Amino acid sequence: MECTCVLGLVLLSAVCGSEVLPNFVLLFADDLGFGDVGYSGHPSSLTPNLDKLAANGLRFTDFYVTSPVCSPSRASLLTGRYQTRSGIYPGVLYPGSRGGLPLNETTIAEVLKPLGYTTAMIGKWHLGFGTNGTYLPTRQGFDHYLGIPYSHDMGPCQNLTCFPADVKCYGHCDQGVVTVPLMNGETIIQQPVDFVNLENSYSDFATQFIHTAAQKQQPFFLYYPSHHTHYPQFAGWKAVGRSLRGPFGDSLLEFDSTVGNILQALEDTGVLSNTFVFFTADNGPELMRMSRGGNSGLLKCGKGTTYEGGMREPAVAYWPGVIQPGITHSLSSSLDILPTFAKLAGAPLPKVQLDGVDMTDILFNHGQGNREVMFFYPIDPSEKYSVFAVRWGKYKAHYYTRGAAHSDTTPDQDCHMISFLKQHDPPLLFDLHSDPSENYNLSLKDHPELVSVLQKIQGLKEEFEASMVFGESEIAKGSDPQLEPCCTPQCSPKPECCQCKSMTY
Ligand code: MG
Repeated sequence: MECTCVLGLVLLSAVCGSEVLPNFVLLFADDLGFGDVGYSGHPSSLTPNLDKLAANGLRFTDFYVTSPVCSPSRASLLTGRYQTRSGIYPGVLYPGSRGGLPLNETTIAEVLKPLGYTTAMIGKWHLGFGTNGTYLPTRQGFDHYLGIPYSHDMGPCQNLTCFPADVKCYGHCDQGVVTVPLMNGETIIQQPVDFVNLENSYSDFATQFIHTAAQKQQPFFLYYPSHHTHYPQFAGWKAVGRSLRGPFGDSLLEFDSTVGNILQALEDTGVLSNTFVFFTADNGPELMRMSRGGNSGLLKCGKGTTYEGGMREPAVAYWPGVIQPGITHSLSSSLDILPTFAKLAGAPLPKVQLDGVDMTDILFNHGQGNREVMFFYPIDPSEKYSVFAVRWGKYKAHYYTRGAAHSDTTPDQDCHMISFLKQHDPPLLFDLHSDPSENYNLSLKDHPELVSVLQKIQGLKEEFEASMVFGESEIAKGSDPQLEPCCTPQCSPKPECCQCKSMTY
């Protein structure tokens, strides 16, 4: 890559040896589909700030996460490695989980910190809590953390997400566990969290963090994985009832507003031109919520499946004056964020087997990039079944398919839980450029010329499998109710006694 100097303001420090380190803002929505955002064509979503990012940034059409559910996808985002290596499988972590993202995994925050970065996370962690908060973000390179440790439906939420009182409250959250706490660092400052004001707190915290870092002229990394637009969808008073789309639209609008406040803070502090902003989401929409869930647009199925709707996500790279606006069809993944941030900061890569590749060719040259292939693990990866699907170039081969409860209720029965595991030999093969909806299998009987494509894909799959060492499953370690976060640890009877009023932070 050539030394890129734009408007005399920003140098890519890795290449040019500049003293100026870029800031990073990573925006991460939850259970958001390919068709959910205003700029991707949803007719009643209201996302003015994400639309602005897309219009003035580089929009990815072929961007993938590594899992169709939350925890594994987040593990891969932060480590640049498939979840099978770090042990964040099968499924997701729970409030009392014994395991979490192993502390010897290196996160993006830990890659940047040695260079002098200040790091903060606001939002949903979902990579473990553990004994005395062993697995919290503060143990994984984040200097500051304001957020909830897991999904907001993982605790009794009745009457907590309805606002105002006359708005019908949807959703049945998990019972028999502690209510969801709000953490500041490793301290519980509210239990239950004040859901309807949560996004405001995030926005204030993020804005303050940016102002402080800018004042100190310290490079920063801000990771903002919101609880929006996960079930049960709701919004605080600034967004409730404001979209035409109901609770999902309102929750998306509230997320979008925080994005807007973060962008405004970057502008107000004069650091926007030296800040790389990236937006995407952790996995596809939870279609079982029907019209109150998300939408994967023209992609097949959603959350829980290895079809496109489960793992292909909206994504935008935004860096005004540095990244030229446009659209890229290059194959890319959340795995690639860590190597890309490291490259831009001039940070050494962790000395582990990484699955991510540097995206700077795509960002700065609108080139093809370095990613040749993407592997699709199901929610319960195993060495026996390995990856369910492989994408190489424009082709995707499904070795196994299976529906999921998360994607029930759609007209397409392939998405449903009752579509049990099915092996395909030869694999189903789709041309995703001409058939992004995975409707038309290219059978070898009709397309004998595609034998070589399947051979190539099989070779890549075998090479990948030979490189894959499954880490010990952190989720199989199970749960212990004693490990559920409680603001008054000695109280009784649990979990009901774990209640604390707001404390300031
Ligand atoms: Mg999710």
